[in-house]
Parts: sequence; C-alpha cells; structure tokens
Amino acid sequence: MQIDTRTTIKSKFYIRSRKISANQSIDNTIIITFIFMELSIFSDESFMKEALKEAQKAFDADEVPVGAIVVCNNKIIARAHNLTEQLNDVTAHAEMQAITSAAHFLNGKYLNECTLYVTLEPCVMCAGAIAWAQLGKLVYGAPDTKRGFHLLSSKQVLHPKTEVVSGIAANECSELIKTFFQKKR
Ligand SMILES: [Zn+2]
Repeated sequence: MQIDTRTTIKSKFYIRSRKISANQSIDNTIIITFIFMELSIFSDESFMKEALKEAQKAFDADEVPVGAIVVCNNKIIARAHNLTEQLNDVTAHAEMQAITSAAHFLNGKYLNECTLYVTLEPCVMCAGAIAWAQLGKLVYGAPDTKRGFHLLSSKQVLHPKTEVVSGIAANECSELIKTFFQKKR
C-alpha cells in the first residue's frame, strides 16, 4: 500500500521551520513546528484532502466522484474511490473498497483503531459495512440528503462506539459531485 504523506510532511516542516527560525530560538522552532505538524498534517482537513484526491481520480475515470482513505496511527493504510462503472458493481462504493483494502492491510477484519475519511456521507449500505467493521471514527465531507445514512437516523445504523465528524471540506467535496453531474447533462 502506498503511503505518500511523508513528502508533504517534510516539505511543510521545512517551510514552517524557515519562517519561525528568523525570529525565535531553535528550541521554540522545533516545539512549534511539532505542534503545527500535529494540528495541520494529521488534521481531519488534511486527510480529507487525500480523500478528495481519490474522488478526483473517480471523476477523471467518469465515475461518480467519491473518494475515501483509511488512516491508522496517522498513516494512510488504504486509498479507494468509487468503481461502480468500472466493475459493473453497485456495491463498489469508495467506502466498501477502502474497508476491504484496510482489513487486508491489517490482516484483520475490525477497524476499531482506524478512521475512515470519505468525501460524501456514506449510504445505508456503506454505513452497514462501517458498523460491521466496528470502525473507530468516521469523517465525511458533504452531506448526502438523498441517500445518506442519516435518513435512518431514528435507528442506530453505525456501531455505537464509532465517533462521527461531518462537514469537513464539505463545499469542495460537493462541488466535485455537482460538476460531475452538470457535465453529464
Ligand atoms: Zn455507499
């Protein structure tokens, strides 16, 4: 599995270090830089950008542009995007691919130590898979008012221990989908 966050971390570390070291001591620079890394590099926003890259790959392949990644201990262990057209499979949603890939990587079916980032609110099918995987945390971008799992919010769909964060980069995530469907018309 390709883990390509390191280049980004290195380059941001370098840029930040140069800016701060002009005015402050080296010690402060290191401390502030690490705080910056913790807040910025491993933030939900930063990981959502990686999921958006996957969504863009789907867009470029003429698939409904939804992307997902799975993060474990701040490392990306799975990347996936929607493949329903390519595989002629209505179950080939980004989340399904990402869950399978992450379980394969970990050699274990439960993802309770993992966070799934997905650009669109999961559908009921994917929410079911997320529940079976006992996912630790779910972060999604744009809401899906027609097919999102919140339509079933009166019933508990996800595993009770799964933390949920929504609305991360929501505009960017939904714009990609809107552009896709406008292009189709
Ligand atoms: Zn789905």
